[in-house]
Amino acid sequence: MLKDRTKIHDAPGKIGQKISIYGWVEDKRVVGGVAFLIIRDPTGKIQVTIKRDQNSELFALATDIPRQSTVKATGIVREFNNIIEIIPDSIKILSTAQHPLPIDPTGRTEASIHKLIQNRPLSLRIPEINAIFRLRSITKQVIREFFISKGYIEIDTPKIIATATEGGANLFEVDYFGRSAYLAQSPQLYKEQLTMGFDGVFEIAQFYRAEKSHTRRHLTEFTSVDLEVAYADYNDVMDILEELMKYVFSEVPKRGRAELEILQYKPPPPPKEVPRITYDEALDVVRAGGVDIEWGDDIDGDALDVLARKYPGFYFIVDWPWDSKPFYIRRKGRLSESFDLMIGRLELSSGGTREHIYEELKKNISEKGLNVESFEYHTRFYKYGMPPHAGFGLGLDRLMTVLAGRENIREVVLYPRDPETITP
Ligand code: ATP
Ligand code: MG
Repeated sequence: MLKDRTKIHDAPGKIGQKISIYGWVEDKRVVGGVAFLIIRDPTGKIQVTIKRDQNSELFALATDIPRQSTVKATGIVREFNNIIEIIPDSIKILSTAQHPLPIDPTGRTEASIHKLIQNRPLSLRIPEINAIFRLRSITKQVIREFFISKGYIEIDTPKIIATATEGGANLFEVDYFGRSAYLAQSPQLYKEQLTMGFDGVFEIAQFYRAEKSHTRRHLTEFTSVDLEVAYADYNDVMDILEELMKYVFSEVPKRGRAELEILQYKPPPPPKEVPRITYDEALDVVRAGGVDIEWGDDIDGDALDVLARKYPGFYFIVDWPWDSKPFYIRRKGRLSESFDLMIGRLELSSGGTREHIYEELKKNISEKGLNVESFEYHTRFYKYGMPPHAGFGLGLDRLMTVLAGRENIREVVLYPRDPETITP
């Protein structure tokens, strides 16, 4: 099949030639003795025109084909009245679509997000939805390319783990042959360990958080872009993350121009320079904006609105209170060597310098109220010459909402999982 297939967007270049296209019947019109089929494939659509008095058998077949059925059409490409069309000598139905369809794949009748997700494969026939997931694939490729150009090693860490990474909250428990195991909420400890032998490691993978969040930016299964770099501190990895954002926001619009045109959306331009404000400075901005906030509080709700008004684009919030950060972050008095990358009011990434000194790491664990012994499987490597290192985790799904101009994280994930939905 593939050998004789012409993609529909290549058809206009083949006027006068006989080609075969494969696709689905998006629309069908019969005007007098002429049947018009609009055939679409992921690259475009084209009209197939059949006249009754030229081929009555084909005409009968065409008028009977249910919309959305998959067909092969073979015929001569021609241009008539500025319309490119195919005059077929054969049409083969490869698979028939049964009606009624659960959603309208032309997108003319709008369906709810829920219905689109419940019918995801069929929804991919809606050009906008198809474009979102092509853009996502392009974005992953661009990110991977960036890391590989830096010489970082792509790793795969386990998603089934025996011990809680960050103390047990938000973990899904699974029955592992009668024992308790958990789904990993991040590759954190593994990626840190691996800096013992690699200069830098990255992973793009799904992770799991049992948080009952009903927001437009949380899922229970999300894709994280993780980086960890040896001999680096948080300023170094902020530089890398800033460079990554510049690369992604300039490359993706170029390579995804067709997709963004379908979406009629222009992502924000690549940032020229990403301001780095301290947590303390952020509190000053929030208070000046008339919102009460105590030192040590997380910055959310109204406080974020104030901050986003002053910084509508990318910005870093650095030096968070140590109390608000996990044990593996390097402490700096009552602060920590940590950062969040924000765009407006959306958190895209968190990162920091990691504690690499064995004794200090154990002290951090116990100060967070965790059991030092239960982390020995991890901390023991810090006795054998662990390099200083730093890294970040970046939410790919959240990044995609910004790149594709979508409000809800569920729109940029093929099969989203949230507290209510684990189907299809
Ligand atoms: P938030 O405070 O927004 O819930 P977080 O600080 O708990 O996020 P981190 O542990 O810092 O999240 O994870 C790093 C990044 O991974 C986040 O900045 C975000 O982009 C993404 N992320 C984390 N949890 C989720 C989730 N449940 N759904 C989607 N993306 C997530
Ligand atoms: Mg965070």
